Amino acid sequence: MISAMDHFIGGMAYRLWDLRQGGIRLIELDILEKEQWLSGEQFEAIQFEKLKALLLHAEMHSPWYRQLFKTTGIQVASIDSLEGLLQLPVTTKSDIRENTEKFIADNYNKDHLKKAKTGGSTGFSLNLFFDEICQQKRNAAQGFTDGWAGWKPGSRVAALWGNPPVAKSLKAKIRSFLLERMIFLDTMELNERSMFAFVKEWRRFTPDILFGHAHSLYIFAKFLKKSGIEDLRPKGIVATSMMLLEHERKTISNVFGVAVSNRYGCEEVGLIACECEQHKGMHINRSHVILECLDENDRPVPMGKPGKLVVTDLNNFAMPLIRYRVEDVGVLSERICCCGRGLPMLEKLEGRIADFLKKIDGTEVSGVSLVERTLTKIPGIEQMQLVQNTLHEITVNRVKGREYNQHTDQQLLAELQMVFSKMVNIKINDVEKVQQEQSGKYRFSICKV
Ligand SMILES: [Zn+2]
Repeated sequence: MISAMDHFIGGMAYRLWDLRQGGIRLIELDILEKEQWLSGEQFEAIQFEKLKALLLHAEMHSPWYRQLFKTTGIQVASIDSLEGLLQLPVTTKSDIRENTEKFIADNYNKDHLKKAKTGGSTGFSLNLFFDEICQQKRNAAQGFTDGWAGWKPGSRVAALWGNPPVAKSLKAKIRSFLLERMIFLDTMELNERSMFAFVKEWRRFTPDILFGHAHSLYIFAKFLKKSGIEDLRPKGIVATSMMLLEHERKTISNVFGVAVSNRYGCEEVGLIACECEQHKGMHINRSHVILECLDENDRPVPMGKPGKLVVTDLNNFAMPLIRYRVEDVGVLSERICCCGRGLPMLEKLEGRIADFLKKIDGTEVSGVSLVERTLTKIPGIEQMQLVQNTLHEITVNRVKGREYNQHTDQQLLAELQMVFSKMVNIKINDVEKVQQEQSGKYRFSICKV
């Protein structure tokens, strides 16, 4: 059993480590604590000040934005409200991919910056750069919202990740033992043997919080249910990195006896939004990002309507990202959460732009929602993935479920043809499992049109 002393040591280790890092993370945590309660109106001036500082910096030091502002005739000095942001063009993934060096501020030494690489699943792999301060602030936002799910400094964590990090040096091992206090289940290796071994480790370690990619959490939860294992009881669960489907959320929270906190973020800017204890939509991390929802002409869509998400990172001065299109679709709302926080809401995520399949008449269909609906409606399908190669051809990679019978595939075909019409050729592939991406994430809908 892990004692109260153990918790105390864990907490202390955090404080000491933070002091070594200059305490930026702790200072930022305090700021986030305070800012979360400010109303939209109260926060506006603070956010504008952060934005203005970023814009002035980008104009002076980022060759990309300097040029962009010049050619579009934008005078940053004359921007006097948050709405001023709307006149700036959107930054795309291809802008970054083709001009990475130009985005980096000339008063930062690239060799001293931290580097992150995004996955190449949408056909784009980007290199991003940021400094230690930005990293610490991002860590603070993460720790802060982990707190909403019940995490505290010193909490023990179980994580379901692809390619879990392995501490190599002695220093890294000590750090990992004292601070991270984590056990991992490698999601690239999810089978009965590895999951049973993880359950054994869990019982010894008794983690407080469980983190993982939404679908990996679901697979693990289903395994526990099937094996009759009912004693894994974390105080909170955080689902990250991909769409959390409603039926998956239900299974996970039933099996572990605790609600799932859904979280949305990306490598490029860190945490964007996270659910609070109410689990009704996600609170936007407005202290660190400005999130917009735009139509095809890059104009704001009305509140409550889905649109393409665009994010401005208020932390990254080494490589400014202003109105960066993350290639996800979501819905913003003006609803005030009953938790009392002033943080605005990302009501819903609808998936990546690349997840939207196309009907012959050009209508877009949310592939993730379609997969979810089909799985709930038709018994006998364990897992499925839709791959659209052309307007007239869709491949379904289907994993048989327990209730699979001779009618299952017919029903599946009928369901999809109802959506896409009979003119679309739908082919069902019987597969053992849906292949993961290198990062360990799953994609259930891939549109190549
Ligand atoms: Zn709330």
